[in-house]
This record gives sequence, C-alpha cells and structure tokens, in this order.
Amino acid sequence: EEIQEVGALTDGFHLVIDALKLNDINTIYNVPGIPITDLGRYMQAAGMRVLSFRHEQNAGYAAAIAGFLTQKPGICLTVSAPGFLNGLTALAHATTNCFPMILISGSSEREIVDLQQGDYEEMDQLAIAKPLCKAAYRILHVEDIGIGIARAIRAAVSGRPGGVYLDLPAKLFPQVMDAEAGAKSLVKVIDAAPRQLPAPESVERALDVLKNAKRPLMILGKGAAYAQADDAIRALVEKSGIPYLPMSMAKGLLPDTHPQSAGAARSLVLKESDVVMLIGARLNWLLSHGKGKTWGDQPKKFIQVDIEPKEMDSNVEIAAPVVGDIGSCVHALLDGMGNNWAPPPSAWIDEISDKVETNITRMAPRLQNKNVPMDYHGALGALRTIIKDRPDTILVNEGANTLDFARSIIDVYRPRKRLDVGTWGVMGIGMGTAIAAAVETGHPVLAVEGDSAFGFSGMEIETICRYNLPVCVVIFNNGGIYRGSGVNPGGGSDASTTVFVKDARYDKMMEAFGGVGVHATSPDELSRAVNAAMDSGKPTLVNAVIDENAGTESGRIGNLNPQSVVSRK
Ligand code: ADP
Ligand code: MG
Repeated sequence: EEIQEVGALTDGFHLVIDALKLNDINTIYNVPGIPITDLGRYMQAAGMRVLSFRHEQNAGYAAAIAGFLTQKPGICLTVSAPGFLNGLTALAHATTNCFPMILISGSSEREIVDLQQGDYEEMDQLAIAKPLCKAAYRILHVEDIGIGIARAIRAAVSGRPGGVYLDLPAKLFPQVMDAEAGAKSLVKVIDAAPRQLPAPESVERALDVLKNAKRPLMILGKGAAYAQADDAIRALVEKSGIPYLPMSMAKGLLPDTHPQSAGAARSLVLKESDVVMLIGARLNWLLSHGKGKTWGDQPKKFIQVDIEPKEMDSNVEIAAPVVGDIGSCVHALLDGMGNNWAPPPSAWIDEISDKVETNITRMAPRLQNKNVPMDYHGALGALRTIIKDRPDTILVNEGANTLDFARSIIDVYRPRKRLDVGTWGVMGIGMGTAIAAAVETGHPVLAVEGDSAFGFSGMEIETICRYNLPVCVVIFNNGGIYRGSGVNPGGGSDASTTVFVKDARYDKMMEAFGGVGVHATSPDELSRAVNAAMDSGKPTLVNAVIDENAGTESGRIGNLNPQSVVSRK
C-alpha cells in the first residue's frame, strides 16, 4: 500500500479531466470514437456531464451557445480528421459570433502525419484550424496539460471571446507521470476575462456626442446580451430616455414591450436618427454596414461600445469609440450622465411611438388569423402568446421566412431567451442550440424551425429524447426550401431543387425515439400541442403544416441572391 502511494501515477486522460474540473468546466458536448472514447467515459466516471451527439457539427453548435449563455468556454470533443472537420464549422461560427468555445479533437501520430505517411485519420489539424479560430494549441507532453488547457480557456473568454482549437494527439492520453507532480502541474485560471475599463476621455466624448443629439438611438447587440450587465444596460436606456433597437439575440435584454423599444419602427429610426450608440453590436451586413439606403440621407454620428478596438471604423467613421467591457463602459456612461440628464426632444420620441403603434395595430389582426393551411402569421401568432405566458422559455429560431417572421412577431421578455442563427445567418444551429440551452439553463426550450433548417440537425432529436430534455421542436413545414411549391424548370421527373417530399410527417420521427409527436394543421392545434409540451417537459416535435405557397425566396434577404441577366427566373 505504502509503495503505491509513493509511486502513484496519473496519466493524460486524468489530467485533462482534472484540469477542466479545476476550472469549473463540467459539461462536454461530445461525439465518441478513436482516440477519445475512453476520455468521455472517464469524464463521466469523474462526475462530468458528457452529452454524446450524433454529429460533431451539432455538438459544436451546442458548445458555442453554451459559451454565449455561461461566459465559460463551451467544450466540444471530437475524434480526429473527419470528426474534427465536422466540428470546425461550429468553431468558426463561435469565432465569428464572439462566443467562447474550445474544440478539443484527438489527433493521429505527429511523426506519421508530419511525414505524410498515411496514418489512420491523418490530418494536420492544428494548421487547418488556425485560420478559423482565435487561437490554436497542441499539447504533446503530459506535463503540459495544465498549462495548455489554461491557455485555451483564457484565449477563449478574454477580450473579444471566440473559438479556440486544442489538439490532443492520441499518444498524450496514456502518457503517465507522478500523480503528485501531475496535480501540481494544473493551472487554475485566475480572472480569465478581466474587466477592461474604458478611458475616461472616451466616455466623456461619447456623452458629449449624445448630449447634442436631436434624434438619438441605441442599438443593443448580442455582445450586450453576452456581457450579463442586464441591470446596468436597462438603467442606461431608462435614464437616458433614448429609444433603442435590439438586434435579434439582444431581444429581451429589456422586454420587447418596453415603451422605449423602437423594434416596430426599425426602418424609421435607422433612417432618421442623428446619433447612434452601438452597444455590443457590429456594423456588419445585418446593419447594412452603417450606410446606404437603410440609413437614409440624415448625417449620422456613431458612438460604439465594444471590447475590440479593431472593430472601430470597420465600416464607417466612429465619432466616439468607447473600448472596454460592456459592464464597465455602461457603468462609466451612467456615472458620467449625472442626475439631470435631459431626455431626447419629445418630437422624436412621439414620432417613433406613433410609428410603433401604427405598425403593431396593423399587424394584430393578421396574428389572429385561423387560416388552414396555416400561414406564418397565424402560426407565429399562436407561439407569440405562448412565449408571453411563459417568458422563461428559451426560443431557438432558424429558417428563412420562419426566422424573419418569428424575429419580428415573437416578443421576448427576458435576457438571453432568444437564440438564433447569429452573424452568418447560417442554418443548422437548431438542435445543437436547443440541447445546450436546455442543459445549461434547465429552462424549457421552444425551437421554431423551418423544415429545411431542421434537416441540418434533425437526427439530434434522438439525443433530445435520450437525455429526456424539455425541448419542444416546432417545424414550420411548407414542404421546401423557402416554399414547397417549386417546379422543375427543366420539366424532368426530378423534383425542383428547392422542394421536399410533400406532406412529410416529421412528428413520426420523434415517435420513433419515444418522444411525443403531434401533427398540427391549425393555430389552435399548434397552441394546444406546444402548451402540453411545456407543461409536461417531455421531448416533443410538432409538425406544423404551413401553406406551401407561404413565404418568399430567401425571406428578407432575397436581395443577396445574385441575378442572371441572361436567364431570368
Ligand atoms: P449583433 O449581431 O447582435 O449585432 P455582433 O455579434 O455583431 O452582435 O456584435 C457583438 C459585439 O460585441 C462584438 O463586436 C464583440 O466584440 C462585442 N462584445 C462581446 N462581448 C463583449 C463584452 N463583454 N464587452 C464588450 N464588447 C463585447
Ligand atoms: Mg420551408
């Protein structure tokens, strides 16, 4: 016994686990296989929550959104070469969206890979990952596991968050070392994302610009949602009296029904504002790069609050850059405003309120329509009421029309309750996002999915059933990509490139895995099914039949489709 104590050994498997646990990382989004199958088992044995997916891309999307929700890096664990490549889409997505995530992939023998001698799943993964993430590291020696994992964590969460790749060659796992020395080699990351205070003069400059505005506007982005400075942001909005526009994942930071929300007057405020303060939102394509028709002729000054200095002037001149973490910046702005900040001119406020009211009143009857087959408004009107009644529900949303309509129709009432396609506008995030949302928060999840979007991650409904997660998936089934009514322009027997099997019954897939499947053809049926799912917490899939003619090509971004002048559609 004594001999064993003196000579006790640890190995790569166990040090990876100990290093993660030491840093409060306890959840892993995983797809097992050589060389990380046993790692997953040992993790589970050590009390970690290891969720095994059916495809790495979905495990990766889960990890990415876990990072957004928790401010800790979400971990995706994959096998080498193909598994790694599958996870890479999500790693790049995390980096693009500024979500902290670590993709940990097993890899093959370095000696063979580097001489390109044809190993099992041979691939120079580190080199491939590098351009797609914030940082990429490889650990070759068991003694370096502690420092390697610490580096990965800090790189993911500090400054502008993003994706990190960590390469763990198969040979690392069985390497042994003295257990005591191993324990000492671990590193607990201290203050992984330190506050970054804005320069006082930048705060003063921003307040000067804001003070002189006649038609000010604030735009809250998902960086503001990520920052978890919810009370301070609300205080800033309310103390300033400035109307605000939430970007899609910032909806709910203040309830969408807030009197200062200009959500229903988006076109007006973008065009007519004279000073725009961006908080954790980028002037990328989602905001038409801050120029052009969307922004009107009115000269504008931009104030931008962001942790990334290089973001400033990326598209247009930023009159007042405020660089720092959002919590610190917003507190500094609040302090600088003092106690008698004058609200914006009432003409501006009234103009916006009128527009908001007109648009909401015009929309209301459409949301109550009971058409069969359902259109987007009738179906989303039903779901809108459910979210209103159950504001803790996390709404996951993807598709083309399903995304665009749901974003504007479904009000969100609490921070980080709307998770969607993010910066790329990409499809495929659905089931991975829904799973992580349920796992990380314990709240019920409502995933509103276009039928095409769902297809990218549909197999994960088995994962949802296996872990018995409180996820209700609603598929807006119009039988195709954009719509289900296309015909083959070549006249052949193949279906059009954009249509699926007609009258598909996705609900039966759910039943195959022991979940609840419902076929809903009217807003009332849809409403009943979703409420039942929310009450029971049982994995549920509702096949919501939508008119195959409803919807438009590419939803609201049809203008991004290049047009042929030679052969017109
Ligand atoms: P949206 O798509 O909602 O407009 P973006 O992803 O374009 O949001 O912008 C988010 C911005 O928030 C990024 O520029 C990022 O650097 C910034 N950001 C993320 N986290 C923080 C933080 N804690 N403090 C300050 N800025 C942050
Ligand atoms: Mg469709």
